[in-house]
Amino acid sequence: MAQKKELLYEGKAKRVYLTSEEDKLIQEFKDAATAFDGAKKGSISKKGEINNTISAFLFEYLENYHIPTHYFETISANEMLIRKLDIIPIEVVLRNVAAGSLCARYQITEGTVMEYPILEYYLKNDELHDPMINEYHAYAFGFATPDETRAINRIASKINAILKSFFDRRNLVLVDFKLEFGKRGTEIFLADEISPDTCRIWDKKTHKKLDKDRFRHDMGGVDKAYLELRDRIVNA
Ligand code: ADP
Ligand code: UDP
Repeated sequence: MAQKKELLYEGKAKRVYLTSEEDKLIQEFKDAATAFDGAKKGSISKKGEINNTISAFLFEYLENYHIPTHYFETISANEMLIRKLDIIPIEVVLRNVAAGSLCARYQITEGTVMEYPILEYYLKNDELHDPMINEYHAYAFGFATPDETRAINRIASKINAILKSFFDRRNLVLVDFKLEFGKRGTEIFLADEISPDTCRIWDKKTHKKLDKDRFRHDMGGVDKAYLELRDRIVNA
């Protein structure tokens, strides 16, 4: 087993540690919560454990569909062993239903169902507030080649199809979500996390929000919503 070594990086929601094995890292999920590029700070009870559990479950689920992920194994309630990657500094966002920044940018009513999923790229840069970019920025800035963006788009669309139906079977709507990808040699892997911090997920019937929007907009019941979502994903 890879032994935990020094802290490599501390972000807003996770800590990443080096290990005794060069190609492996430990990703530790924190209860700390932020929104609006870190301007709003707080914490959500048991979030670290819940996001670790949900991410591990969904990475394993996606591996069954031949999606390459950075996930190796869960090593504690809030830590997972992952493959060390060179992260591509792009946030890939998939949208099935209008919410969040899409509604503001294009004046679309929240809850409008898209006729076709939307795939967007944002530059991963908090200081610049994650500006929207496209494939040409990715080529020009040296983040990814045309072949790599093609692979990323294909994998992201496949993940959306898989997860949409996964959540639908649990009477949940996958509204939108954010993915990060990383490279190891010529291979591309899904990285980071898939959790209620990085997805919008609603109850199918009531449209009750079961994600970080409850924290973003002070809707109350945040801790309970995270627990409910974990149980509806894992115990189905
Ligand atoms: P942020 O940097 O946005 O505050 P986090 O708190 O989630 O984000 O920190 C986790 C960091 O680890 C992110 O910068 C993410 O890109 C990075 N990361 C995720 N998976 C991997 C991986 N497999 N290899 C290297 N870095 C990773
Ligand atoms: N998202 C994320 N990290 C970010 C920005 C967005 O995980 O830095 C997720 C967010 O939780 C939502 C989706 O990506 O599920 C689309 O977010 P949107 O563009 O609507 O931005 P926001 O409303 O968060 O500003």
